[in-house]
Order: sequence, then structure tokens, then C-alpha cells
Amino acid sequence: MDEKNISKAFEPAEVELKWYQHWLENDYFRAEGKSGKKPFSIVIPPPNVTGMLHMGHALNNTLQDIMTRYRRMQGYNTLWMPGTDHAGIATQNVVEQELAKEGISRHDLGREKFIARVWEWKEKYGGVITNQLKRLGCSCDWSRERFTMDEGLSRAVREVFVRLFKDGLIYQGDYIVNWCPRCHTAISDLEVEFTEEKGNLWNIRYPYADGTGEVIVATTRPETMLGDTAVAVNPNDKRYKDVIGKMVILPLVNKEIPIIADDYVTAEFGTGAVKITPACDPADFAMADRHNLEIIRIMDGSAVINENGGIYQGQDRYTARKNIVKDLEKAGYLVSIEDYTHNVGKCYRCKTDIEPAVSKQWFVKVKPLAKNAVAAVVKGKTKLVPPMWEGTYFEWMSNIRDWCISRQIWWGHRIPVWYCECGEMIVSTETPDACDKCKGTKLRQEEDVLDTWFSSALWPFSTLGWPDKTDDLKTFYPTTLLVTGFDILFFWVARMMMMGLYCMKDVPFKDVYLHALVRDEKGDKMSKSKGNIIDPIEMIEKFGADSFRFTLAAFTAQGRDIRMSPERIEGYRHFVNKIWNATKFTLMNLEGYSGAKPAAGDYSLADRWMKDKLNRAVADITTYLDEYRFNDAAARVYHFIWNELCDWYLELVKPVLYSGESPEKRAAAQETLHSTLSTAMKVLHPFMPFLTEEIWHMLVKDGSSVMVSDFPVYDDARSDQEACDKMSLIIDVISRVRNIRGEMNIHPSKKLKVILAAPDQKAFNTMQEGAGYISNMARIEDLKIESKIEEPKGVATGVAGPVRVFVFLEGVVDIAGEQARLEKEIARISKDLANISRKLANSDFREKAAEAVIRKEQTRFQDLQGKLEILNGALERLKKIAV
Ligand SMILES: [Zn+2]
Ligand SMILES: [Zn+2]
Repeated sequence: MDEKNISKAFEPAEVELKWYQHWLENDYFRAEGKSGKKPFSIVIPPPNVTGMLHMGHALNNTLQDIMTRYRRMQGYNTLWMPGTDHAGIATQNVVEQELAKEGISRHDLGREKFIARVWEWKEKYGGVITNQLKRLGCSCDWSRERFTMDEGLSRAVREVFVRLFKDGLIYQGDYIVNWCPRCHTAISDLEVEFTEEKGNLWNIRYPYADGTGEVIVATTRPETMLGDTAVAVNPNDKRYKDVIGKMVILPLVNKEIPIIADDYVTAEFGTGAVKITPACDPADFAMADRHNLEIIRIMDGSAVINENGGIYQGQDRYTARKNIVKDLEKAGYLVSIEDYTHNVGKCYRCKTDIEPAVSKQWFVKVKPLAKNAVAAVVKGKTKLVPPMWEGTYFEWMSNIRDWCISRQIWWGHRIPVWYCECGEMIVSTETPDACDKCKGTKLRQEEDVLDTWFSSALWPFSTLGWPDKTDDLKTFYPTTLLVTGFDILFFWVARMMMMGLYCMKDVPFKDVYLHALVRDEKGDKMSKSKGNIIDPIEMIEKFGADSFRFTLAAFTAQGRDIRMSPERIEGYRHFVNKIWNATKFTLMNLEGYSGAKPAAGDYSLADRWMKDKLNRAVADITTYLDEYRFNDAAARVYHFIWNELCDWYLELVKPVLYSGESPEKRAAAQETLHSTLSTAMKVLHPFMPFLTEEIWHMLVKDGSSVMVSDFPVYDDARSDQEACDKMSLIIDVISRVRNIRGEMNIHPSKKLKVILAAPDQKAFNTMQEGAGYISNMARIEDLKIESKIEEPKGVATGVAGPVRVFVFLEGVVDIAGEQARLEKEIARISKDLANISRKLANSDFREKAAEAVIRKEQTRFQDLQGKLEILNGALERLKKIAV
């Protein structure tokens, strides 16, 4: 290693670019369609092609990359399938906004030209998010990158549509849908966002046709009365018992409509009588079905009153509302107006108020599909992690409604249905040339496109080449793992389950890891209006991708939201720097290191301990990653590198490295240092790919890459319990001395005089073996090890297992201060003791608490009593010194 490389600081930007390029050039991300290795596959949740990397993506893709890199190193034939989603409405909106700036609409362009324009946009800007994923370090197999509108995937979409249709699982029907009058399309129930708004409740008089009185109805939407076809009451509502079946006159419209009885009406709402507008309300629509009521559409696709609205025709729904209320009032029909807070559905895309509307739509009959998707989870063929989501999944699937799959937009998969002039309808995977029935060639394709989620539901197999029987499908389906946010469990995961089982006769994935939301450090949702959004790219630029990724992993506990702040990421940049400095230290001390294997006897206790600790860390980290416990895995890596390696081993080993006393021992230390750090880089690699690759190349100079090295395996044969036990005791003793030093405010440069009393023979031997470490690490100039002595005068004491630690205070400590400390500590422990003894005396506690809990309290009581005795003794002695 040349001096220049050793002395420079870690420069994330430069290093990240260099290694990502290197990985790509060496094809390390590429999966093999045919291979003797065990497969591991993940399909990426395809980000919208309009998307920009946000914290949700950053988290989601970091976790996928950790698992992918981990399995790749374990020798799996690893496929991380990347791609983007065409995102129908979102993308169409973006391009429409562009057009608006030019003063034109998509209708001015026409369908074909508009779609060409969207493709143009996609070519130009569609790669933004892909490049951002690369900056994060994602090791996707880019050679297989897919797009939901590419040729192969479009073929899969048509194939599935036709199969479902032929199986009677797709139908067309009149339906009330959530209609966005701005986007001009139906949107799914899941895409409606509800916001609480202050509105009004208008009470309106509907006179009986026979002139015998009136019924008063309450409504939040008076303009819909133009389409009323009934008034409904609850059949058990005594107030209306005698009027059921009577006709009322619909004000302003002046036509007669019936009063009907339906259980759906709650007597408690308003007056207990409600107006029924089947074309404007899903519940009313269902009621119209039950009572065979007329359905009158009163608005067009832009929510403007149509020809059925009489004099209000041409008015926007809200203008019409104002005018209708005014006219009702003028004509004496308006009884009262109340303030009323209610939930208003908005389009998730453009925030326009949803207008429920009746129109012809295409549906998938999901009940039969859902049945299999539920069974697969019950049988454990697909496992949801954390399992708490299973209940939600089952509940949702059992209440599932048919899926409206048609959208009235242009950007998307156009439904493969053609209409002939003769009335024939052709459903086909290929664009037909002529009508089967009349041979006519004037065919018109269905205008609607499919819901974006239709193509993403096929993602796990369409990306692998379905409907062809490809090697990729054979090798990688079912995929091993899906990592996604819980918020699209139903939008996406459930639908993939249904479609995978339907088309492939097998589940799309074995494990589904559902992560929570990324929030700010206070736990608030990130939003533009709050100004608390953290931009992942900004974080990568500021702190480096490695620190950023590590932070995300460290805070990802199953089932809990992730609280993120730039400070937290900065915190882990210190970790990066610590590792970098440890590397510099290692490289500087590897001088003369030949790589030859030292004799077993040359390894010091510290070397043996380090190797044992590494072995144990590997075991834990493997378990945690196998169980998707990302935070536990990250914490364990962190603890190993920061504490065990940097804080302890690097310090313990310095004397051997620095002194020329034993070249053999030095070589053993060098080997330990080199192998531990390089193995640590392997373990850390899935979390911090760039830093580890940079260090790997500095340490292991054979041109290999850490990302394709073997992930370490725990080896029982290498465990060294003896070294572990001895070193733990030595570390404990050092820590006691350091504690005393810290608590008594003894300056670090002051060398101490210490006696260790180890009556136990084994401990005595260990102290003798570790004397060098202890003197060195605790800065002791005069260390004595005794088997049994009376406590000397003028010392501070500590206990480390069977060893008692006596630190002589004379000349090094502020006695009065120490006295105060002891008194404080004694007071604290006395208080704790009083609390516990009160608890133990409480009969209620003794009756209710488990035996183990009681025993634990008793043990604690004894421990504290012991401590108190020691402290009291110390205080006594200190007082004697002070005199
Ligand atoms: Zn909209
Ligand atoms: Zn025909």
C-alpha cells in the first residue's frame, strides 16, 4: 500500500462512482438463466417511470440490496429484477401538464400523437429514477430491466386478459365508480383519499303528491336531487310507517317519485328520510338494484349538469348547487341549513372531488381468485413478515369487491377487445384483421385502457418471459422474496398473489417482507407542506451512500415506522470514518506481513479472542439477516466493528505490533488483523457496498471483489471458549479501573497503582496472563496480582467477576469529591432497596406476580444489599484517608 492511499480521507462520491462502474463492467449483477446454483430472486416493486427517488424507495431498495448482496455472497444464483411502471394516470398527467404549457390539450393532439408524445417523454426522463437507484448502490441485473409497457409485458397483459375473459372472470357492466372529473377516468376505491371537510346539511321539503303533507330529507349534496328516483326510510321507523309506498313530488323537477323502505337507511341520520340518487352514490346505486329504481345520470364526465338537469344543464356541479339551493329557498322548499363536517373523497392524483358516476366498465371477478390467494397464505406457501399482516390480508380478501380494471385514459394497455359494425365483439391477444362473424374489416378497438395495477399484478412472471416457457421462469419463479411497503399490500401484493396463482399455478413469492413508513425524527409523516421531507440524493451527496444505507437498515425494526433525520445519517458517517481509520491503522501495521499462516502457538490471547468474537458475530448476523431483522443485523455489525474490533482489539494488539520483541507474535497479530478486517468487510458489504469494496482492494490485493467473495460462515470448530472467557474477565477488569478513573475524575495521563485480588486460581492465572493488557489499557504503572489480601487502606474498589480491583487513590484523586459521589450512590441504592422491600412486602404483588418475577426481585435486593455494603465500606475508608 502506498503512503498516498493510506493518508487520504474517504471520499464517498469518487469511490461510489468508481466501484459501481467496476461492478457493471465485470457483470457481477448478472443472474444466470440456467445454473447449478440455488436460485435467489427478487422483483423490484417497479417505481413509477415519472418517479423521483424518495425515502420510501430508498428504504425499500436498500433492504432489497442488502438481501441480494448477502445471498449472492452466499453463492446463490441471484436475480434482482429491475424495471419501471408506466403509471397510467400519473404519467399522462405529467405530459398533459407539459402540453398545457404549450396551450394545448391531449384532445388537440389526438390519441396516437399523444401516446407518441408520452413515449418521447419516457425516453427523455424515464431513466431518472433508475439512475438514482444506481447511486444508492442497487445491484439489480440491469441487463434484464423491464418496463410494464414494453413489448413482452404488453403481450403478457393481453394474454391474461383473454384467458380471464374466456374463463368468465372478466365482464363488462354498468357500475357506479369513483370518477375523477379532472382526470376523466374511473379510479379504484383504494385510490380515493378522504379528507374531512366542513360542509352543510340541507333539509329539504318533499311534498306528498296527494297533498296530505310532506317529508323532509337531509342531504349534503342538494344538486344531486335532479337525479332522485326515490325517498327511502327504514322499515322499522314508526314515524314513516304509514307513508311507505306514497308518492312525493320532487321539487324543482316536478315529478313524482316513491317512498320506499330499506334497511340500509338509519333512522338516526337527519330526519330518517333520505333522497335516493342511484347515479350519484354507491349506496343508492345498490338500493336501486334492490328496488328496481330508475337510474338517471345528471352529469357528464366533467361533472357538468347534462340534458337531464333541465334548466341547470351546462352548469358545473358546484354552480348548480348554489343555484338549486337559491331556487329551493325561493320556492319555499328549503327548511334549514346546518353546519356539517363530513368526509369528502378526492382523486389521489389531482385532489379533485370525486364524483361517483355510473358508466360501463370492465371488471375482474375476484372472489374465485381471492380464494386461492388466501389458501396459499394459510398453507404457508407465502409467508408475510412480520406475520401481523396476515390478519389484515385475510380480512381484506374475504371482503373483496370485483376489481374495476378499465380506465378512461390513453396511456396504458388498451383493452384487447374490438367491436364490429355487425355488433360482434372480438376478444383476442392479436389485433384481428376481420370480424369472425361477418368478415367485415371495420373494427373499432375498445377505447379504455387497463388499470396500471393490472400489468403490475403480472410483474413476478411477466418480467421472466411469461407466457413463453423460459429458463428464467423455470429458475426464478416463484421468486424468493418481495420487499415492499405495507401500504400497497392490497393494491399490489394481493393482486400479484391472485394473478400468479391463476397464471402460473404457483405463488409469486415465498416471503413478503412488509416494511413500515419512513417518518421524520419526531414520528411525523414527511410532507411538502410540513417541509420535513428528506431527499435521499441530497443525503447521499452529503454523507455518502454507505452511511445513508446503514442508517436505514439500523432503524428498520419489523412492524415499526422508521424515524429518520440527517443527524442520524451523520452519526453513521462517524462509523464510516472509524472503519476508515481502522483500515489506515491496519495498513500501516501490515508492513512485512507475508500472508503466511503463523503457528497456532504464536497467536496471543487477544488474537484468539478476536477470532472467536468474529466467529460469533458472523453467527448472529447470519441469523438476523435470514430472519429479515435488519436493525438487529446492523446493530451487531456495528458492535463488532466499533467495540470489539476498534475499541478493544486494535488497542490490545498495539504493543505486539509496535515492539520488535517477537517477530512470530507480530506476524500472528498481523494475520489476525488482516483476516479480521477483511472478513468484517464481507459481513459489512451488504450494508455498505462502496466502502467495503474500497477497503477490500486495499487489503486483498488480488483484483477480486468483495461483492462476489464468500460470505463468512460460522464454524463451531473455530469457537474458542477459553479465550473468550479469559478475555471477558480481563476486559471487565480494565473497564472497572477505567470506571473508577472516570467516576473519580482522575486525569488519563495519571498512571495508577492497582492491586487485583483473585482468590480463585483460574482467575488468578488469567490475571497473570492478562497483566500486560491490563497495565497497558488501564494505564497502570504498578500492578500487583494477589490471590487473597485484606482490602488495603486508601483505595477505590471495584468488582469484576471473582476479581476485586483496588485502585490506590492517594495523590491521584480529589477525596472530598469522591466522598460526595459515594454518598450520592449510597442514597440512590438505599432508595432502590426501600422500594423493592416495599414491593416484596406487598401481598397483592406476591399474589399476582409470577414466581420468577418475585425471585428476580429478591435476587436484585440481595445484589443491591451487597453493593451497599461495599460502598459503605469504601466511604468509611475514604473518610479515614481524608482525616
Ligand atoms: Zn384526478
Ligand atoms: Zn362483424
